[in-house]
Amino acid sequence: MNTLLLKHVFWEGRTRNVLVRGNRYACLDAAEGAEADRVADASGLALLPAFYNGHTHLAMSLLRGYADDMPLQTWLQDHIWPYEAKLTAADIRRGSDLSVREMLAGGTVFFNDMYFEPEETIRVVASSGLRAAIGITVMDNHSLAQQASKHAFVREWKDPTGGRIQLAIAPHAIYTVCERRLRECAEWAREAGLRLHIHLSETRREVADCLREHGTTPVRYLDRIGFLGPDVVAAHCVHVDAEEWDILASRGVTVVHCPCSNMKLGSGRFPYERAIASGVRVALGTDGCSSNNNVDMREEMKFAALLAKCVSAREDGLLENEGAADLLPASLVFDWATRGGAAAFGIDGGEVAEGKLADGLLVSLDAPKMQPCHHLLSNWVYAADSTAVKMVLCDGKIVYEAHDGKTL
Ligand SMILES: [Zn+2]
Repeated sequence: MNTLLLKHVFWEGRTRNVLVRGNRYACLDAAEGAEADRVADASGLALLPAFYNGHTHLAMSLLRGYADDMPLQTWLQDHIWPYEAKLTAADIRRGSDLSVREMLAGGTVFFNDMYFEPEETIRVVASSGLRAAIGITVMDNHSLAQQASKHAFVREWKDPTGGRIQLAIAPHAIYTVCERRLRECAEWAREAGLRLHIHLSETRREVADCLREHGTTPVRYLDRIGFLGPDVVAAHCVHVDAEEWDILASRGVTVVHCPCSNMKLGSGRFPYERAIASGVRVALGTDGCSSNNNVDMREEMKFAALLAKCVSAREDGLLENEGAADLLPASLVFDWATRGGAAAFGIDGGEVAEGKLADGLLVSLDAPKMQPCHHLLSNWVYAADSTAVKMVLCDGKIVYEAHDGKTL
């Protein structure tokens, strides 16, 4: 079994040697003379859990900056969908590759994707060394032949990476997939043992349309048709009332908070206080590059932590306490971005601990934005940027090294 030694790395308050055996952390305090197949000098670097991006559309990097500054329905119907109709499989491969390179450099080791031509994205992921959940996207405007080929793809699926890629069934949203097909998706996913990935309660309009068409709100609607369960990953959940939060929590749903996308599309503010109170599982996601406009999870953490503290949060009545004690702490946002995402997808990682999967990132403690280091996590969430990332580990392998003069 291959071994990797991170020599003189900073972790949990002091410098030490960290040994990785195979794809897991074997020893977080290895002896100075420990040997390994590969030894990396990690002096001046701090080891942190890597990121798990809970919701994205990878190839939408091609639409970065294409349609900014408009609300979701106009943005989607008048700009994004017409553009996407022209994309070829080769375009999607290039778009996925662009995002993968960005994620590697930013310390993200996993993403949960929903897009077209999944084979192309799978190819890119397989060669990158990353992990992914690749959504098989379902929309009502797909033909019966397209539907049949998706079923065949899932039936014949074999992970070419031996465990880093999982498929998911991804009905786009309740306003693009009819009730019958949503029920079919839930059955399909459960028969195949796959997760379900959907956009949910993203805008006020989605809620109003659902009330008009189904006589109830989106979360209650999905619950009524038997869609919700611990295998469901629901992106956004901005417009969810207190009772709906309890439904989501009791069904074991993972909610993916995407603050940049919600702000950029003017969708509203994720009611984190209610989410936390309900005990629902939360992960963090970037959404696609056309509503973000990048896939930088470190930046997403900062926006999540700041959005929770903004003036409008107090004005909308969700924050009663003017003091700082009740404001979303950086440590919880960090937990959503790491452990929360890993747990949602059954990945035994998301933290640096002996026996856990060796996914991690090494940040420079010498980077100007990481100094002084009163509190490492505070610097990482609020001050740094992804240029501080010098090395990324996924599944026990080094999948990214920065080439800016430092020898590793
Ligand atoms: Zn999305």
